Parts: sequence; C-alpha cells; structure tokens
Amino acid sequence: MSRRAATLAFVLCLLLPQSAFAWGPDGHRLVGSIADQLLNPRAKQHVRTLLGVDLREAGPWLDCVKSVHRQTDGSLAYIVDSRYEPPCTPFANDRAAMVDYAGRNWIDCVYPEGASATANLGCHNTYHFDDVAVQRDRFDRNYAGTNDHDLVAAINAAIAVLLDRPAPPPFDIKNKKEALFMLAHLVGDLAQPLHVAAPYLGPDGSLVDPDVTHTIDPNTETAGGNWIHDGSQAFHHEWDDTPSDLGDTAPQTLVDAAKQVPADTDRIENWSAIWATDTVLVAKEAMADTSFAKTGPRKWTISFADRPAYLRKADGIKRQQLAKAGARLAEIVNKVWP
Ligand SMILES: [Zn+2]
Repeated sequence: MSRRAATLAFVLCLLLPQSAFAWGPDGHRLVGSIADQLLNPRAKQHVRTLLGVDLREAGPWLDCVKSVHRQTDGSLAYIVDSRYEPPCTPFANDRAAMVDYAGRNWIDCVYPEGASATANLGCHNTYHFDDVAVQRDRFDRNYAGTNDHDLVAAINAAIAVLLDRPAPPPFDIKNKKEALFMLAHLVGDLAQPLHVAAPYLGPDGSLVDPDVTHTIDPNTETAGGNWIHDGSQAFHHEWDDTPSDLGDTAPQTLVDAAKQVPADTDRIENWSAIWATDTVLVAKEAMADTSFAKTGPRKWTISFADRPAYLRKADGIKRQQLAKAGARLAEIVNKVWP
C-alpha cells in the first residue's frame, strides 16, 4: 500500500471514539482466565516468566496503553484516568513499557477534521479492530475496512515475534513479552463481532456496501457501531459488555465450552484470518432483526424486532465468543511452547 493510501486508510478507520475498549476489562480478563486454564505446563511457565502475570491479568494491558497521550510538547506520557485505571494497576510499576510501545507504534498519520479527540492517541489503536462490512461472508484483506495495520495483521505480527521472526512493518514489537501482551488482548478483540465487522449505513438507515465501490463513503461510517445508539448506550459498547454473572474470572462452564472449540488444522499464520472470518459470520447474527434510523451526522439509532429476545441471543453469543477467544489464545501459546 502506498503511503498516501495508508494515510487515507488511517483517516477512514480512526473515526473511533477514545472510549472504544473492545470487551470491557472483565471480558479481556475472562478470555485470559480461560486460556490460563488450558495451557500446558511449559507454556504456563513461559507466560509467567515473560510477563510476570498470568494471561488473565495481562488481558487489559493493550487497553492500558490507550492512557498514553501525546503532550503539547510532542512527548508521550501515561496519564492516569480513574475510569480506566483499575485493570491497569498490575502494570503501574512499568508504565514506561507502555509509553515505549506506544511511541514505537504511534505511526505518523493524518486525522480527519472533527476527530481531534483521537489525535493524541496514536495509530496503534487501529491494531484493535477491523471494519469488514457485515454483508461479507469472510475476512479478506482486499475488502474495505481492512488494512496492513488492522487487528488480523497485528495478531499475525505478534505471532511472528513469538516464533522468532521479524514483525512486518508498521508493527514495531520489541520482544516476546510485548508480543504476548498484545496477543493476550487482541485474540479477545478478534472474537467481538463489532470489532471485526461493521454496518455501513445510508441516509435512510439501510445497509450500504463499501465493497461495491471499493471505497468507504465517510457518511456511511458507523465506527464499528460506536455511532449507533440504543437509547443512551452505543451499540458497540453493548457488545463490549460481558454477562454480569461471569465477573472477571472464568467459571468452569466457560472453560468447558472452550475445551469444545475444535483445534485449528491450518498453518498458525492463517489462524487470525480464519478466526476473523468466523467472527464476520457471527456479526451477521448480531445484525439480525435490527433496523436503523439516521438521527444526525455520524449518528444513528437502532431498533430491534424483539429487544428482550435480542438481548438473550446476544448473551449466548458473547459466552460462545469468550470461550472461543480463550481457546484460541491458549492454542497459540501452546503451539509456541508445546
Ligand atoms: Zn482492544
């Protein structure tokens, strides 16, 4: 991709509010907690030695990096925000590592007019998501809403480092510790339907297809559902929330569900794209029986044919996706350290 095209891609995909944390910290801890219980002893030892914490505690690290902000003098600093800090306290004695990671992965990019709130956050935030149109039936790097610094690429880059290979640009991953912190988080993001797929909406609220024109009309961009509201809550955030009874440590039911997830037979290099395809298909379920109305610039409302039924369905999908993510994270780590 040319530098200009890359810059345009940044512009299109960075229309994401600062508060877009995929799964909440509880969800990321649940995923890590499942994986912890599926690791073989050697893998478990490597995780402990490298990270100093288990995968459950490591899960939120990459969201904690979002507390690194660019100062007016151009330097980067970790700014404690009490709303986001609780899951980040295990890393409080090494915030320099987060500042360092953010600096190496900041990547020069241009932000659109009106999105200045994101301008001091850095392009590494794009590593957390894809925006494949929900009409698609698979992940494909040729589709709109994907790029060489997206979620699928970030997972592959981190896996490469764990396999003693260089991370392809624009990723700058210092060592296996950093790669493992990335994976402990991103494999969770990859199972959240609205972190892989996105509805693009026309002025009448109907789905539009950016892959017909091979370009994203900014007016149809919903930022992965962040700009779609269900009452006072963003539709994207409703999918970030995990079922409250699960807390932040996996119950046996989730671990048992994770054990039922079939092992992958393809090459490890293909796993993230295969899993992204799976999530695109799940996103179709997340979009079923919904309708939209445009209420302003970058603003839509969602309606459900039967809201209680939708919420019950979403609850089940979330449990299934958390189990898959835990199984997949463990699968990577067990593959690296068999
Ligand atoms: Zn994330």
